[in-house]
Amino acid sequence: MIERHQVLTWLRETDEQRLETLWHWADAARRAHVGDAVHLRGLIELSNHCVRHCGYCGLRAPNAQLPRYRMTTDEILACARQAVAFGYGTVVLQSGEDPQLTTAWVTDLVRRIRAETPLAITLSLGEREPDELSAWRRAGADRYLLRFETSNRALLNEIHPPQPQAGRDRIALLRVLRDLDYEVGSGVMIGIPGQTYDDLANDIELFRTLDLDMIGVGPFLPHPETPLGAAQLGPCPLDQVPNTELMTYKVVALTRLACPRANIPSTTALATLNRASGRELGLQRGANIIMPNLTPTEYRCLYEIYPAKACLYETAEQCHGCLMRRIVALGRAIGTGPGGSPNWQARAQQPRASAPQAGVRN
Ligand code: SAM
Ligand code: SF4
Repeated sequence: MIERHQVLTWLRETDEQRLETLWHWADAARRAHVGDAVHLRGLIELSNHCVRHCGYCGLRAPNAQLPRYRMTTDEILACARQAVAFGYGTVVLQSGEDPQLTTAWVTDLVRRIRAETPLAITLSLGEREPDELSAWRRAGADRYLLRFETSNRALLNEIHPPQPQAGRDRIALLRVLRDLDYEVGSGVMIGIPGQTYDDLANDIELFRTLDLDMIGVGPFLPHPETPLGAAQLGPCPLDQVPNTELMTYKVVALTRLACPRANIPSTTALATLNRASGRELGLQRGANIIMPNLTPTEYRCLYEIYPAKACLYETAEQCHGCLMRRIVALGRAIGTGPGGSPNWQARAQQPRASAPQAGVRN
């Protein structure tokens, strides 16, 4: 098991030859614990409305420059059918924190996808109430993604102002999700202004403590219409983590070593930093998941969490073809079925006091 002092040393390592050892270890751990299959999760960005004021994200409520959209149930179901046609095992339904996506509407959507397709369903709808999360789990949602963004509480409160009326923060909600028998995903941004190497080592430790099933890490990419994008940063302090491609690979690799049985995506934010080979290098340095975008092109460019996102103008067919070719060229297999993480599969096999009502697809 990788120790904290080793994590800190690797995070500061710059020698390319020594880093080859880290890539090699991470790739070997990936192969041993989650295998060679790369699972594809079809991403549907169903609404860009958001009530939150996150200092980093272009969807934040005060960004009046952004035209807003919300997909209809029929549009989402059409994307889900496309996911089936492409052979994906999972759809990820992601949005801003949008109260118009009511408990009943999401419940109905989950039920319909469940009834009409064999897909596993991942939700990523922000901080919602435990009774809503419970209703969606009972309706058939399998997984929930909620990044804690940074384990540094003071930094988080600055960049992600808490909702005054909210009873629970993201870490508490991750525990609720686990109690509800979701397959639980979280993650952080890398290179947030004010994030130190110690913070990042704490983040990786927290991934392990929370026993996460899915872990997404990607570089912080500044958006000009946000406080963090517009901020004029002074000279970079020595402790500041850079938001670079190399730092992202290091965190992917160290996360694989810390949480070997988790599913780890090679993220779009990484592909945005290196369009030619960012996704592939992520897959070769610990990642085992790719999330092709199924969002219709007219909405895709409005889901602008950061500028110049990769794959903005490609259709779902083009994204699919491109990603399949890239995975095959690496000599890796395309995953079939829902592709639950071994971490989750081991937990699902343990006897529980109260069994979940929704069928488990793993
Ligand atoms: N609203 C939901 C939430 O916040 O969990 C889900 C959608 S949100 C756009 C998904 C993730 O995008 C966030 O958890 C955050 O890590 C990432 N994100 C937002 N702004 C970003 C930026 N400027 N650079 C990199 N990642 C960003
Ligand atoms: Fe909204 Fe999520 Fe963006 Fe925060 S990160 S502004 S909650 S979409």
